Amino acid sequence: MDDLLNPLIQGDRRALSRAITLIESTRSDHRDRAVSLLATLPDRQALRIGLSGTPGVGKSTFIEAFGTMLTEAGLRVAVLAVDPSSTRSGGSILGDKTRMETLSRNPMAFIRPTPSSAQLGGVARRTREAIRLCEAAGYDVVLIETVGVGQSETLVAEMCDLFVLLLAPAGGDELQGVKRGIMEMADLILVNKADGDLLSTARRTVADYAGALRLLRKRPQDPEGFPKALPVSAATQDGLPNAWAEMQALTDWRRKNGHFDENRAQQARHWFMAELRAGLLARLDTPDARARLDQLGTAVARGDAAPAEAARQMLDWLTSTAAK
Ligand code: GDP
Repeated sequence: MDDLLNPLIQGDRRALSRAITLIESTRSDHRDRAVSLLATLPDRQALRIGLSGTPGVGKSTFIEAFGTMLTEAGLRVAVLAVDPSSTRSGGSILGDKTRMETLSRNPMAFIRPTPSSAQLGGVARRTREAIRLCEAAGYDVVLIETVGVGQSETLVAEMCDLFVLLLAPAGGDELQGVKRGIMEMADLILVNKADGDLLSTARRTVADYAGALRLLRKRPQDPEGFPKALPVSAATQDGLPNAWAEMQALTDWRRKNGHFDENRAQQARHWFMAELRAGLLARLDTPDARARLDQLGTAVARGDAAPAEAARQMLDWLTSTAAK
């Protein structure tokens, strides 16, 4: 185990890659190794930033520019991706190295694409564990990128300290169909492509979203003015230093009032329950359990047993087999 742990905590990127491959593996011996590796990691913290936006909004351009800016400030930056579409298409559209060429060659940065063929639940676990590995490897900022579809935002919001929504400039009529739930998760809305011909549209879009954000309930844990909407240009880098300053201001505030740690504690509790639920469900997925389920299901269908009674019998059966 030490052959992986030591280089990992010294920041060796190859060891980090290998450790992530280990936690992504579904083989049970790999899983055992992964769990004990995770248990021995030093307690280091990075700032975990979730970044969401629909394809084409400029996420990879933004991460390339923003990540490079952070490395120039002396920070080590890791980029992970949660891409539910890759589970369908079998190929990842996020975290692809060719999308962030400069950053992927930067020794201060680490980019990991989404593994293909994983369930959303599996992606959640893998991403959470990969975040911990990046922290142990000494990264200061972990960017978790996701596309604006499905449940992936909620998932990412539940594992990061800051959630940033990237939007494109647009006519303000429909607020681009951004779902209220996603707006409510955002700490910062960045309207990208605020440059050239798009600048005035971008400014209007910022004003529209700033207005919409004011209508949402202010979070008691946050300072006046948050969540905020700001213009940025990933292409020209305008507004990026300001966006970073706002992220730091919000983080500092939350650290001071204890909300930062409280949020992490709640997230840990949430993921503990999620792991437990997954583990319990997995116990229903053995040949014996499936046979017993089938038997009880048939009895319920025939009217020979009430659903609640059959469920109790199944739970009793699980308890007794666990005790053996
Ligand atoms: P992603 O699909 O969200 O990762 O988006 P990309 O980063 O691939 O960008 C999509 C398109 O938008 C590309 O053609 C980029 O060159 C362009 N783009 C990204 N950021 C900006 C920006 O700040 N300004 C302008 N004008 N174009 C941008």
